[in-house]
Amino acid sequence: MINEFIELSQDGYGIYDQDDILIFCNSAFAELNYHPKEQLIGRSFEEIVRLNYSNGRGAKIDSKDVNAFLHYAHKMRRSRPFRIFEVDFMDGRWYLFSEQVNESRFLLVQMKEITKQKILQGGLENTLEKLSELALVDELTGCANRRGFVNSVENELKRNRHAGTYSTMALIDLDLFKKVNDEFGHQIGDAALQHVTKLATTQLRQYDIFGRVGGEEFAIFLRNTDQEIAFNIINRIREQIAATPLKINGHTVFLSISVGLVTEDSKASFEQLYTKSDFALYKAKALGRNQVQQY
Ligand code: GH3
Ligand code: MG
Ligand code: MG
Repeated sequence: MINEFIELSQDGYGIYDQDDILIFCNSAFAELNYHPKEQLIGRSFEEIVRLNYSNGRGAKIDSKDVNAFLHYAHKMRRSRPFRIFEVDFMDGRWYLFSEQVNESRFLLVQMKEITKQKILQGGLENTLEKLSELALVDELTGCANRRGFVNSVENELKRNRHAGTYSTMALIDLDLFKKVNDEFGHQIGDAALQHVTKLATTQLRQYDIFGRVGGEEFAIFLRNTDQEIAFNIINRIREQIAATPLKINGHTVFLSISVGLVTEDSKASFEQLYTKSDFALYKAKALGRNQVQQY
């Protein structure tokens, strides 16, 4: 009965003696080693590995060096009474191996195919990674969304807390954007948001943080940047946007931005920077738009 079930099993079972000669295997084990039982029994573990390797089959050998692989395998086999590990094969399949040693140093090997589970696991890991990226990225413009911006800035502030440097936050709001939508339609409005993103980000440096924090509102965080340099960078972005209308579907869409800017030492919190730059933005709007105002 036991023998009947072992023979029927989809899992491979093989027994190696103390000299690592295969003395028993079931049909599944033979199949998983690509040879009929009769050709495997009586051969050593090393012979079986070499046989499969020379036919381009069996375990994927990282270094492509079968001798190094065998050296490693000999060291590991029987190193503990019980071992369990995953192996990927050259044909793309995955197996869960277990090895059980008995008192006479005979070794029982079990191989179970887990390809499906590995694919599922890989897919889930990729999906999780994508989801967590998506949660921080604005779909329309590809830049950070509000959450992504807040996260990045707060990390940066934490890192610089004791550095004694200055950081700048700039809040940007597109001018009279309702009119753009009304005149050209929402789709061209969306294209204008992409256009502004591109113009702004190409002016920024590698470590500056840019994000879309609201419908037609953007924010920039410049670390280690004093007020004068920050003003120049941001003002250049404003000029560039005013000088580069969006040309689309035969239309020319003129755009401008108002910006509120604040520079504080590295102890300021995100909320303090945001509130102050919002106040300065209000001033820029009140004073006639298309300008940068400092807090
Ligand atoms: P102001 O200069 O005072 O900022 O004028 P405004 O018209 O830009 O200001 P307001 O806040 O009144 O309007 C913002 C408009 O931005 C409203 C909305 O139609 C538009 N908007 C917000 N998000 C989007 C978006 O994702 N796509 C498009 N096309 N328009 C958007
Ligand atoms: Mg607005
Ligand atoms: Mg606006």
